[in-house]
Amino acid sequence: MDLASQFPSLVSKQVPLGELSCFRVGGSAEMFARPRTREDLVALIKASNAAGIPWKVLGGGSNILIPDEGVAGLVIELSDPTFQKVSIDKTRATLGGGLSLADAISTTCQAGLSGLEVLVGVPGTVGGAICKNAGGKSGDIGPFVHSVELVDSTGSIETRPRSLLRFGYRSSNLDDGIIISAAVDLLHENPDDLVRRIKKIWIERQGHQPDPTENAGYVFRNPRGMSAAELIDKAGLRGTKVGKAELSHRDPCYIVALPGASSRDVRQLIELVLARVEEETTFQLELQVDLW
Ligand SMILES: Cc1cc2nc3c(=O)[nH]c(=O)nc-3n(C[C@H](O)[C@H](O)[C@H](O)COP(=O)(O)OP(=O)(O)OC[C@H]3O[C@@H](n4cnc5c(N)ncnc54)[C@H](O)[C@@H]3O)c2cc1C
Repeated sequence: MDLASQFPSLVSKQVPLGELSCFRVGGSAEMFARPRTREDLVALIKASNAAGIPWKVLGGGSNILIPDEGVAGLVIELSDPTFQKVSIDKTRATLGGGLSLADAISTTCQAGLSGLEVLVGVPGTVGGAICKNAGGKSGDIGPFVHSVELVDSTGSIETRPRSLLRFGYRSSNLDDGIIISAAVDLLHENPDDLVRRIKKIWIERQGHQPDPTENAGYVFRNPRGMSAAELIDKAGLRGTKVGKAELSHRDPCYIVALPGASSRDVRQLIELVLARVEEETTFQLELQVDLW
C-alpha cells in the first residue's frame, strides 16, 4: 500500500535524509512523515504495520548513519510543536519526545531545576537521548526518568513507569516504540550554582568533540572498563582517512565527514578501525552510532 496516497498531507516520498543527520551524508527516505498530532502518529504506525511497511523514528539525527542508497519504508520525525512541549510541576518536568535537548536543559535550568545539565553539549532530542541513555562524565539521563509515554510497536499509546524501564551504557529497553513524552524528576538548585556547573561542563566538552562546524558523529563507545579512544590510539589510527571520512584528531571516537564524503566512506572507515583495533590490541570496539 502507498502511504503517500493514504495520508497525502502527511507523507512525502523520496525525502533526502542526509541534511537531517549530523554526518550530513546518505540518501533519501522512501517515505517520510512529520505527524502533527498523536492521532496522526498512531494512524501512521497502524497503517504501516497493516501494510508490512518498516518504520523508523528520527530524532536530531546525531546518532545515526544513513546509507547512500537511502532508507526503505517510512521515516517519522517528531518535529511538530505538538511533540516539543514542556511543562513543569514542582520538581517534575514533562518533556516532549521531539524537544531538543538544548531546549530541555535551558528550560529546566531556568526554572532552577538541576539534573539535565549533565547533557550540556550533547546534540539531539529528548526521545533520542532517552532511547540511547545519553550522558557523559557527569552522568546519564536514565536515572532522572520517572516515566515515558510512547506509541508502542502495535500503534497503541502507553505509559511505561520507571519500574519497567531499563537503562544501560548508551542503551535502553525503549527501542521498540516512539517516545512521545517523558517525565523527569529533577532537583531544586540555586540557579547561580547551576549556571556555574553548566559552564564548567561546557568548557570541559569543548576540547573533546569535533568543532561544531564539522559534520561528525560519535561512532565508537568504550568497551567495558576500557577507553575506546586509547585503544584507537594504541592502534595508531587517530586522524586516519578513508575517502573523505576522517577519524577526528580531537577525539578518535568521532568520525568527521569532510566535504564531499559519502556514507560509504564513513562505513569503510568504521570497518577499518574495528578490524585494526582488534588486530593491534585484541579488544573489540563497539559501535555507538546506529547504522540505518
Ligand atoms: C558532536 C556529537 C557529540 C555527541 N556527544 C555525546 C555525548 O557526550 N554523550 C552521548 O551519550 N551521546 C553523544 N552523542 C550521540 C548523540 O548525540 C546521542 O546519542 C543523542 O542522544 C541522540 O539523539 P537524537 O535525537 O539525535 O537521536 P537520533 O540520532 O535521531 O536517533 C538515535 C536512535 O534513537 C532513536 N530515537 C530517536 N528519537 C526517538 C524517539 N522519540 N523515540 C524512540 N526512539 C527514538 C532512533 O530511532 C535511533 O535509533 C554525540 C553526537 C555528536 C554528533
